[in-house]
Amino acid sequence: MTTFTELFEIPANTTNEESSRGNSVFRKPSSMASNKPFDYSRARKWAPNADFNDIASFYPSELEKQGVLPQEQLLALNDKYMELWLAKMPTSKKMQEAGKKNMLFGIFGTYQKDWETPILPFAENCLGGKLWDVDGNEYIDFQFGDTPSMFGHGPENPAVKAAADSLMNVGINPMMGTEEQAIAAQELERHFQLPVWMHALTASDSNRYLLSIARCVTGRPNIAIPNFTYHGTIDETQKMMPEAGVISRYHEMPQYHADVDKGTKIFVWNDLESLEECLKDGSVAVVMMEPVMSNFGWAWPEDGWHQGVRELTRKYGTLLCYDETHTLGHAWNGSVGAQNITGFDMWSCGKAISSGIPGAVFGMSREIADAVEKWQHEAGFFAGAGLGFLGNALTGNTMSTTALRVTMQEVMTPEVFTPLLNKAEHVRKGMEDIFIKYKAPFRSESMGNRLCFHFIPDKCHDPLTGLTQIAFGGLFEFAHAYLWYHGLLLMPFFNMFLICPQHTQADLEKFLQVFDDMIAIIMGQKEG
Ligand code: PMP
Repeated sequence: MTTFTELFEIPANTTNEESSRGNSVFRKPSSMASNKPFDYSRARKWAPNADFNDIASFYPSELEKQGVLPQEQLLALNDKYMELWLAKMPTSKKMQEAGKKNMLFGIFGTYQKDWETPILPFAENCLGGKLWDVDGNEYIDFQFGDTPSMFGHGPENPAVKAAADSLMNVGINPMMGTEEQAIAAQELERHFQLPVWMHALTASDSNRYLLSIARCVTGRPNIAIPNFTYHGTIDETQKMMPEAGVISRYHEMPQYHADVDKGTKIFVWNDLESLEECLKDGSVAVVMMEPVMSNFGWAWPEDGWHQGVRELTRKYGTLLCYDETHTLGHAWNGSVGAQNITGFDMWSCGKAISSGIPGAVFGMSREIADAVEKWQHEAGFFAGAGLGFLGNALTGNTMSTTALRVTMQEVMTPEVFTPLLNKAEHVRKGMEDIFIKYKAPFRSESMGNRLCFHFIPDKCHDPLTGLTQIAFGGLFEFAHAYLWYHGLLLMPFFNMFLICPQHTQADLEKFLQVFDDMIAIIMGQKEG
């Protein structure tokens, strides 16, 4: 079986010299990557050999001194529980095999492949906080398609029900404005501060439109992103720096058209000097980042980071954009609301913003909106709609707009969020108590309705330590196989899960019971 460690491993033979396959250079020394060396000290405390060029080296082997089972035993336990789980999926196995005739890997969307299990699970249906697979196995869902359905599956979520009703009664695409669009946009301003909004269908789309708008209004060629971030299927955001002064793609598939060192600068998260180094030549149109880094383990902002980013971006005339696709559930008004972040120029979100009905939004300041309108008038007919990167045929459709409006008015409200966050806190505290009970050197955290267990005890502020806390190479794999086998669906590529409004107390207690057993096994206090 391919382990996650192997999947994420960067080929060991690469160096910081230019490296390529076919015609595509995927890694080269470049001034587009910050020259500031990384601070490995916090990651190396747990993973003494941590080296960015080999993600497997981020396994926190020091934990064994604190009573955690040795890595080989955890991998053996992973094999055992993975096999037990897969044995419950004969129909999924057949369906995947049959599907291979007409679909890559036997499934339609590659996110459905991201389980990276030898047999991919196939679903029968899902409702509220539950999911049933084609073999009749019942699961408590905590992954919700990696966020989109985190406010609940099906008609138990009022936004999904309203969208379905609208589809049946109103139709989907009049290619005209509707009254609901204006209500939805007002709601977006009430939640996320910015005055002007546009619609897109996925977060990747909305980020792509924002980047193009930022270039248009500033007249600058580059964007800047923190190292180890994810903003969707966008060529220019899929870059990282494996070491200071080196820019790279994440892999060697030669599928990108532009040179790796064109268009994107990379800075170190929580490091204002590194950001300033990127911005000071005045070539950066926009800084795009998450309010809390959440895509490679969690990296919290240090005190003053967001304020410092705002000051530096203003100083160098760069726009500031937050992508809240993963952090939306931090509060009813997003992570910018939860952290009291103000004064940003752009904001973007997909996935759960319309309760999982395809839809994304991007907001902008009035000045940016005026500049785009002016540009579009001046540039003329060919700068409209798709050619102007301002949307596509299905943006603003009635079904997505209804789902968006109802999510804003009936789901992302303080009334729904107060009990939801209480439930999430109950589970976070429950995990923490379990760590104390077994003297496990781990940590539980929540970001609104999003929870995470980290396999190191430290609060993490940098994505390098973030990788260590995931513990690919044993702990991560065993935890997933064990929880999946016991009917608890965690996200396949993170130690991360979501609480939805429809989860019952019994669902949460079941999770904590299984989690208790799992930690007892990991700490060698129960037979696995
Ligand atoms: N931005 C962030 C922060 C994300 O986490 C993701 C997906 N995980 C995306 C954008 C892209 O979302 P989508 O795949 O729906 O386009």
